[in-house]
Amino acid sequence: MSDQQNPPEKFYASVQVRLPKAAGAVARKSLGIFERQIRSRCGAKVGAGESPAAGGLLITLDLDPTLGAEGFRIEGSGAALRVSGECERALIYGLGKLLRSSRFSPEGFAPGPWRGASVPQKPVRGIYFASHFHNFYQEAPLPEVFAYIEDLALWGTNNVAVWFDMHEFKSVEDPKAANMIARLKAILKAAKETGLDTTLLCLANESWADSPVELRADWTGGHDGYTRELQGHYHVELCPSKPGALAKILEWRQQVFKALASAPMDFMCIWPYDQGGCTCAQCKPWGANGLMHIAQPMAEMFRKSNPTGKVIFSTWYFDDFTTGEWDGLKKLFLKKPDWADYLMVGDYFGVEKMRGGVPGALPTLSFPEISMWGVGGWGPWGGFGASPYPGLLEERWHSKGALLVGGFPYSEGIFEDMNKAVYSQFYWQADRKAEDTLREYVAFEFSPEVADGVTKAALLMEKTLTRKKEVKDGQTHFILENPQGVDEIKALMEAAHQRLSPAVQKSWRWRILYLRAIIDHELAHHDSALTDRAEEALQEITKLYHAQNAAFPVAPPTREAIKANRQL
Ligand SMILES: [Zn+2]
Repeated sequence: MSDQQNPPEKFYASVQVRLPKAAGAVARKSLGIFERQIRSRCGAKVGAGESPAAGGLLITLDLDPTLGAEGFRIEGSGAALRVSGECERALIYGLGKLLRSSRFSPEGFAPGPWRGASVPQKPVRGIYFASHFHNFYQEAPLPEVFAYIEDLALWGTNNVAVWFDMHEFKSVEDPKAANMIARLKAILKAAKETGLDTTLLCLANESWADSPVELRADWTGGHDGYTRELQGHYHVELCPSKPGALAKILEWRQQVFKALASAPMDFMCIWPYDQGGCTCAQCKPWGANGLMHIAQPMAEMFRKSNPTGKVIFSTWYFDDFTTGEWDGLKKLFLKKPDWADYLMVGDYFGVEKMRGGVPGALPTLSFPEISMWGVGGWGPWGGFGASPYPGLLEERWHSKGALLVGGFPYSEGIFEDMNKAVYSQFYWQADRKAEDTLREYVAFEFSPEVADGVTKAALLMEKTLTRKKEVKDGQTHFILENPQGVDEIKALMEAAHQRLSPAVQKSWRWRILYLRAIIDHELAHHDSALTDRAEEALQEITKLYHAQNAAFPVAPPTREAIKANRQL
C-alpha cells in the first residue's frame, strides 16, 4: 500500500463511471453501491458512461487478473481515475478504499488521495449474522439488511454466514419455519448478488422442537469425562448413538438443505457444541467420536447438491467440557480428510495446541466474539448504543492471527459495526492497527474534521463499556465499572456533533455512537439509574435496531423492555 497526498482537492458535481468491457452483474452492482454511497453523502450525480460532463470526474473500472487474488489498484489523478480489480468483487473493495479517503460536501464529491495496489492477506473474510432473538438480522426490513451487506463488502468482507435454527420450529412445514427460510434465502441471495460467498452453519445433531424424546442427547456433566453440563444445549438434539437417531438427523438435515436449495450456498459449516453435542458413554468425547458419525455423511450430502461447495469443520468448545477432542481429531485426521476443507477454532482456543499441529493440517478459521464483551452474559449486548472495543480485538487477533486464514466474527447486530470494520482490516492486512482502522472509519462515516476527537472518544468507550446490572428498590441500575472518561467522551462527541452535516448527524452510525455517550453520562451522574434523557435515547436506539420485540439480551433496556424482560 502507499499513501500519497495529492495537491488541493477538487469537488465534482458529476461523476461518470465507465464499467469494464463485458461487465458482469457484480461489476454493475459495484456501480450501484458506489452511487448509493455518494447519494447519501453529497449532491454529486453519479452515472454509468464513457465520458463525463464538462468539468466532471471520470472513474474507469477495470479488471486486471495480474493483481493478487481479490486485490485492487487505484491510480490516476485530476479528473480521471482508474480502479482495477483482480475480479469483479474486488472492484467493490477498491471503490470502498477510494470512498473512505474521499470528502463530501454540498459542492459534490472530492475523490480521496490514496493510490496504490492492495491485496488481502486472508482468503476467508466472513461475517456471521446471528438471525435470532428478534435482533436486527431477524427483524429489520430486508432492504436495510441488504444495504448493510453492501457496506460490509466495501470493507473487504467476502462471505456472509447464517444459521437456520431448527429447534425454533416443529418441522420444515411449520409456517414460521417457512418465513425464516424465506428471509435467510433473501439474505444469502443479496450477499451473492453483491459478489460475496455464502455459508450455512449447521449444528451437527440439530433437531426440530418436538424431536422424539427417546432419541434425545445427553447434556449433563459429571460423567464419562464431562466435567460440566453442555452450555447452550437445547435438550431436543438427538444422540447419534441411539438406534435410528442418525438416520433422523440426516433426514432432517436433507429437509433443510432442500428448503434452502434455491439459495446460493458456497460453504457449509458443521458445528459441534453451543448448541448441540451429546455427553453419553457411546458418544464421548463428542468432538472425536459422536460428532464424527454425523459430520462426514452431512458433508457428503452438502457436496452432492453443491459439488464445488466447501466444508468447514468447527471445533468450537473442543476440550472445554471434556478432554481428548483436539488430540482425538488429530488422530482421525492424520491426513486431510477429503470431505472437509477448513477447520474452525474458537476465539479462546489455545494457541499452543494449534502450534502443536492442526488436525489434518487444514487451513484454519476462527469465530471471533465482537458483540458481547463487557456487559456480562445477560446483556443487553449493544443495548446502550455502539460498543467498540478495538484494543481487546487487537490483543486477541495478535495472539493467533498468524495461524489463521480468516474467520467469521459473530455478530448480534449493527451496534458493533466498528468492530466489524476492525476485523475486516485484520483479515486484509494482518498487522493493521485497530486504531488506524477506527480513524479511517470515523473520517469516512462522519467527517475527516472530527477524526481525532471521535476516534479518541471511541477508544475511551472501550474503557467505559464494562457494566453490571443491579436491581435496587425495584429500580434497574447499570453500574459502570470504570466511569472515568464519560465526561470527556460526552464533551468530545458534543463538539464533533456541532461540526457534522445534518445528514451525518441523523445517520444511524452517528446516532448509536452519540447516544452511547449520552446514556453513559446519564448513568454515571445519576447513581447508575436510567433517567428520562437516557430513556429517550434508548427508545431511539430501539427503533434503529428494530428491537421492539427483541429478547432482553439484545434489547436496549428501555422501561418497556425491562418490564417485558423477554427471554431467549
Ligand atoms: Zn450420545
